[in-house]
Amino acid sequence: MRERNNDYLAFYRPDALSVWFVDLIKERLNWYYSVMRDLKPAKFLIVKRVGVDANPYDKSLSTEELWRLHDDAVGEFLKIFSSIRRGELRLGELNIPKYSLLDVKVELAKRLMEECSICERRCSARRLEGVAGVCLMANECIVHSYFHHIGEEAPLVPSGTIFYGGCNFKCVFCQNWDISQVKARSGLAVSTLDLARIQAELRRSGARNINHVGGDPTPHLAFILESLKYLDVNAPQLWNSNMYLTVESMKILKDVIDIWLPDFKYGSNACAERLSKAQRYFEVASRNHLIAYESGEMIIRHLVLPNHIECCTKPVLKWISENTPRAVVNIMDQYRPEHIVLRSPDKYPDVSRRLKYSEISEAYRYAEEVGFKVHTHDLWLKP
Ligand code: SF4
Repeated sequence: MRERNNDYLAFYRPDALSVWFVDLIKERLNWYYSVMRDLKPAKFLIVKRVGVDANPYDKSLSTEELWRLHDDAVGEFLKIFSSIRRGELRLGELNIPKYSLLDVKVELAKRLMEECSICERRCSARRLEGVAGVCLMANECIVHSYFHHIGEEAPLVPSGTIFYGGCNFKCVFCQNWDISQVKARSGLAVSTLDLARIQAELRRSGARNINHVGGDPTPHLAFILESLKYLDVNAPQLWNSNMYLTVESMKILKDVIDIWLPDFKYGSNACAERLSKAQRYFEVASRNHLIAYESGEMIIRHLVLPNHIECCTKPVLKWISENTPRAVVNIMDQYRPEHIVLRSPDKYPDVSRRLKYSEISEAYRYAEEVGFKVHTHDLWLKP
């Protein structure tokens, strides 16, 4: 077993090492673990080996034709992926095609940006012409910072985290309000080649994964996919998101993600609309969690909000327990008022304070009531 250059974990985050001695964690995150240890190739490397017999960048191909090309190639990808997973096939035995499934995904994602429907806001911004959408992003990949994050969940640390600008949510309590809202466009506009170089540098220097986050990575979907064309380092891809993507974006994305880190915030559409200006939240988030669950492994985050135990925490935990029971869950207690809530606490009195001990205890009690029995390294699992 080869450990990249992250010996310092023993000092800063010993749990990042000990977590892998928990059998249930290793079982639930088995694919990610194998890629992280370089025992298996990241999914995007497999997607790049699935050939298509047309040039996806040919503008005479209609979007419907592209989707047909995509769906046929995904069928082939799934067969190859299963063989590689079972150890019956190795990546090196596959040819490198002229055009691959990844090229199709890149082109489809770009077409979604023409009148943008990358996320469920479907705000129709003509992003390829330089017009910014509700997320404040146009046709540039804006990166604010990237580094080895040692504050993430133990199985992910050190996480090669890339913070993109902008966000398709407008959370009034956003902890990253500077890069998601106020200074969203003031990061560095990077080429997709540079984005690949950033990922290679993070991984080669010991990151266990590439953690796409923001703001939210969703507005950057096409750029992230295109960067994978230039990335030849085995780097597990992690999607750290509010999961407010359209179903088309999910279809494009799901085959390249090795581990999902979704944030399941609200159990009530009214709360989502008031606090994040997101409509139909529960339908969209639950649909996308299911797509992610069927395509891979997940650590689901739920940030407990003060005064939102009954309307949000309990419905979310119940839904996870019933619909994605093999997911690992992080019930987060670190909420603090920030951004608009900090400036106008009277407008949002429900979320204008930190959690009470009784609230987080009730969240944990309810997690046990709906079947989450194993609690280790701050992570909850159903046995
Ligand atoms: S990703 Fe941005 S531009 Fe695209 S639909 Fe969502 S908010 Fe609008």
